[in-house]
Amino acid sequence: MTPNDLLGSGMTSSRTRERMVNRLMEQGITDLSVIDVMRRTPRHIFLDEALAHRAYEDTALPIGHGQTLSQPYIVARMTEALLADGPLKKVLEIGTGSGYQTAVMAQLVGQVFSVERIRALQDKARTRLQLLKLHNVRLRHTDGGLGWPEEAGFDGIIATAAPLGVPKALIAQLAEGGRLIIPVGGGEVQDLLLITRRGDSHETRMLEQVRFVPMLGGVL
Ligand code: SAH
Repeated sequence: MTPNDLLGSGMTSSRTRERMVNRLMEQGITDLSVIDVMRRTPRHIFLDEALAHRAYEDTALPIGHGQTLSQPYIVARMTEALLADGPLKKVLEIGTGSGYQTAVMAQLVGQVFSVERIRALQDKARTRLQLLKLHNVRLRHTDGGLGWPEEAGFDGIIATAAPLGVPKALIAQLAEGGRLIIPVGGGEVQDLLLITRRGDSHETRMLEQVRFVPMLGGVL
């Protein structure tokens, strides 16, 4: 990948990307900072070359190892929900995958910590984030169900893989008032939950139904 690939052409051009963000607004995304960042971020570099021409379709796409790059609407929706209570300094992401969601968040919050259990995906994501000069991201190869305890006190945590139940470690690593956005459930369709930490307790709100790959234990 070279800096030239960032520009794109035809199906990966900025015009195609403009159509994608127009669709996001039609679908109900209202946070203009999120729209703006998705307009600027070249989603096609987060896919293998053979799939790059499909990058701006409104669909999830394979990134290898049985994993997927989330649909643009879901990336926008989760990012918007994460930011809805004001600016965030420190965000943890579980499931770096392609690094696209990471790249979007890195342009909207102070610092992103992102963990991934599949080393090969993490390596590719790192190269892409460097190409985009996003230096406020730290990546770690680990089982994300455990979070990133040394950095705990996150204003936001976002999970892009679905566990059967909410991992307690993640709630524990939220700062006071911090927000955890996580798909939960074992079926093909899961509930996207917004959990807000309030002292020793927390509040849960169901946002919508979504389809994510499962959160798995151990590392590869
Ligand atoms: N945000 C990603 C979505 C990738 S799919 C993107 O925009 O491309 C979900 C990712 O979560 C996969 O890469 C998968 O390997 C990872 N994952 C699943 N369980 C995990 C766990 N316990 N810890 C860390 N990553 C995990």
